[in-house]
Amino acid sequence: MADKIISVRNLVKNYGNFEAVKGISFDVYENEIFGLLGPNGAGKSTTLEIIETLRSKTAGVILVAGYDLDKDSETIKGLIGVQLQTSGYYPGLNLLQLIDLFAGLYNEEVDGMALLRSVNLEEKAKSQYKELSGGQKQRFSVATTLINKPKVIFLDEPTTGLDPQARRNLWELIKIINDQGATIIITTHYMDEAEYLCDRIAIIDSGKIVAMDTPDNLIDELVASGFERPREVKQANLEDVFIHLTGKSLRED
Ligand code: ADP
Ligand code: MG
Repeated sequence: MADKIISVRNLVKNYGNFEAVKGISFDVYENEIFGLLGPNGAGKSTTLEIIETLRSKTAGVILVAGYDLDKDSETIKGLIGVQLQTSGYYPGLNLLQLIDLFAGLYNEEVDGMALLRSVNLEEKAKSQYKELSGGQKQRFSVATTLINKPKVIFLDEPTTGLDPQARRNLWELIKIINDQGATIIITTHYMDEAEYLCDRIAIIDSGKIVAMDTPDNLIDELVASGFERPREVKQANLEDVFIHLTGKSLRED
């Protein structure tokens, strides 16, 4: 197996008396797509934001590319790409100007048009963020994570609220970025998405990891335990019907 790029040991996060993350440990390997799944409030965003150096932890040890978060958080910041909160975008600027602004903050030379082209937003270069559709906004925010050519990219629910076409379009973008060498850590509530994208997933519930493996192994394990679906499985699902009827091409995504 490839080298570890992230190592989390006994991570604890308390908010006052509330234990949001209760001593979790996991590794992410270089060039993986690693999924963090779990119900709302499970502690996914807290965990990601701690690794992203945006939130303090209560206890535990985190290494990113061999750097200790407690000692080298500045170095770690330079190695990672984080999807920014949408509210963080300056309203008066267009997409190209926003990319130039971020590039300046990162001290990077970036070909803004090429970057926008890579996420299929070349035609929106002169538009403002607020003028974009949901899928376009998400593609733009993925583009901003790429500016500092990161080794690891964090995507927290990037496809929530998107229509099926826009969701699949973002999947392909994530695959391309991964193929180009980046390790991806993603959270999602869509199990089909996790199955399609993720090499391994951790399922987190009430601040604890309750399972961690490849999607295939997790499913096989459940089946081996005697689980059967209550209904006969059809050869297609409603999403297939929707895509079949409305096509795969992007509209106003
Ligand atoms: P998830 O991303 O899995 O939905 P979060 O990591 O956002 O979960 O939240 C985990 C738990 O911690 C939730 O119960 C949430 O209400 C709580 N929490 C998150 N942020 C804070 C905060 N800043 N102060 C207090 N509690 C918080
Ligand atoms: Mg969250």
